[in-house]
Amino acid sequence: MENSRRRFLKTAGYSILGVGAGSMLIGLSAHPTKAAGSGPSAASLFKQRPENREAERWGMIIDTRKLNESICEKMQQACHSIHNVPDIVGKFGNKKHEIKWIWPTEFRHAFPEREAEFLTEKLSHKSIIPVLCNHCDNPPCVQACPTKATFKRESDGIVMMDFHRCIGCRFCMAACPFGSRSFNFRDPRPAIKKENPDFPTRMRGVVEKCNFCAERLAVGKNPACVEASEGAMTFGDLNDPESEVRKLLAEEFAIRRKPNLGTFPSVLYIV
Ligand code: SF4
Ligand code: SF4
Ligand code: SF4
Repeated sequence: MENSRRRFLKTAGYSILGVGAGSMLIGLSAHPTKAAGSGPSAASLFKQRPENREAERWGMIIDTRKLNESICEKMQQACHSIHNVPDIVGKFGNKKHEIKWIWPTEFRHAFPEREAEFLTEKLSHKSIIPVLCNHCDNPPCVQACPTKATFKRESDGIVMMDFHRCIGCRFCMAACPFGSRSFNFRDPRPAIKKENPDFPTRMRGVVEKCNFCAERLAVGKNPACVEASEGAMTFGDLNDPESEVRKLLAEEFAIRRKPNLGTFPSVLYIV
């Protein structure tokens, strides 16, 4: 009995070591001298310019009444093209390895708990709405990351990624209850339709997700999806009672995804 227990523990130990080493290898293979890919460095990209937009806590309000499938596609197109998000499905036909920063989904999939069971005339459980990283105020992905490759920027609440520090362990993906993160199972660069030289590309073995367009905020712009949303999205400071987002929230009924988990999403949906 004791012998078999010892044998089990030994095997389990080797397995854990194997998995850990595997992850490390994936991570390391993604980090030759140029680290996470090519393009401008994070330091230059997010460096605050005089026109930098500031907030205590950036947030986004999505008005589901103003959305349709075509607007959702335009938002995704705007985001993915400027952020060099690869079209893995189009290039390799592999849906499981898809990389997504923002994507359309049915309302019932975004809100599976059916907080709002009876919806309005304009919104059904099959209506298409966009989902993205919620930039949670209490982000479990940040707590799970062993290298601080993902972190909450204390100045404005954005949950950022430092691709250079990511070792590809995917703990953050397991911790995120919204499926907001994607993992590069292969080199994504051949699947980028038209590379934007002003934003870094990523490499195999790195996790990525929406960054609330931190690089655009740094030069005084709105997020690209907000610009493409035809008025369905509003972006602003959730902590400022005078901001447009707070004024909207004072007038309209808005819900957050999976509120019972206590992550406090900064993306809200008017229903
Ligand atoms: S949505 Fe997921 S990835 Fe984004 S901050 Fe929240 S837990 Fe992290
Ligand atoms: S995979 Fe996620 S948890 Fe692991 S290092 Fe990268 S960001 Fe951190
Ligand atoms: S906020 Fe920026 S990064 Fe996030 S989904 Fe919108 S366009 Fe993409």
